[in-house]
Amino acid sequence: KYFTRKGGFLDSLFGSSKEPIRAVDDVSLALDQNEVQGIIGESGCGKSTLLKTVIGLTDPTGGDIFYKGKPLSEFSKRDWKEFRKNVQIIFQNPFESLDPKFTVRESLIEPLKIHDIEYSEERIHDALDRVQLNPPQKYLDRLPKQLSGGEKQRVSIARAIIVEPDVILADEPVSMLDVSTQAAILRLLSDLTEELGLSMLYISHDLSTVSDICDLIHVMYLGRVVETAPTNQILGQPRHPYSQALIDAIPIPDPFSDRPRTALDGSPPSPEELEAGCRFKDRCPERMPRCDTAPKKVETDPDQFTACHLHYEESDSRPNTEAALQ
Ligand code: SF4
Ligand code: MG
Repeated sequence: KYFTRKGGFLDSLFGSSKEPIRAVDDVSLALDQNEVQGIIGESGCGKSTLLKTVIGLTDPTGGDIFYKGKPLSEFSKRDWKEFRKNVQIIFQNPFESLDPKFTVRESLIEPLKIHDIEYSEERIHDALDRVQLNPPQKYLDRLPKQLSGGEKQRVSIARAIIVEPDVILADEPVSMLDVSTQAAILRLLSDLTEELGLSMLYISHDLSTVSDICDLIHVMYLGRVVETAPTNQILGQPRHPYSQALIDAIPIPDPFSDRPRTALDGSPPSPEELEAGCRFKDRCPERMPRCDTAPKKVETDPDQFTACHLHYEESDSRPNTEAALQ
């Protein structure tokens, strides 16, 4: 397993509050080889903090991140070097992730230099070929301003795969692109993970893109994972009212369904205003008195884990199954 997160908390400073607020709280996930998992949630739910923690840019105040069985907190210099090569990130904004003064060729040579990998013309061509910038010669001497948004994101992806990583962390990689380009880039990422045997953690606020590409989805709300399940189960039988609301927000009307859609009103409370209990309670159509205490996460269906009182009575003897996700 590439990443395992065990117990405890990831705390970080959130906003301008003087008190430290848990931006990411009690999150556990394990990413296996060749697996694509998605993290979905509204902006400010802690996705970016989680990503920073996973790559070691933010230290967790509790718990740890494991890479190939070893905790980041025990990494040697050499481990970090290997980790930085093997875990590549693709960012949201291809306009910012490429140096405007670098040609495509220079952009691709840079990561090779950083990671002490021998340069070869073949390697550069192969990377461009894999991201379908064909023929490579046509693109090598172009500057970012001579590329479309989709082509820039393809170059960013080429920069990531040219060092032969085993994990890709994708942070909203298509949200800045126009809709037709989004589908092509998603397909490319999906094909590349398959062809190269990569694992990917795909972060987005958009459930429809996450469900196109991921095997397993974690639904995050205000720093907590409120539901985890295989993609078809999240879409077909969401057990958490917030997952249901995200599905209802996908703009594909189903003319044959007369099920009332859950409208998601307002925005999440700021982390400073969080009261005790379920963090979704202010927006939840199913709220009841016991939602003033925090719901435990239980296995509501095989491989599906939900933190919601609708699925948990105090008399319920099922254990809190956070540990079962390990
Ligand atoms: Fe809604 Fe209560 Fe479930 Fe929270 S615990 S999602 S408020 S029903
Ligand atoms: Mg973000």
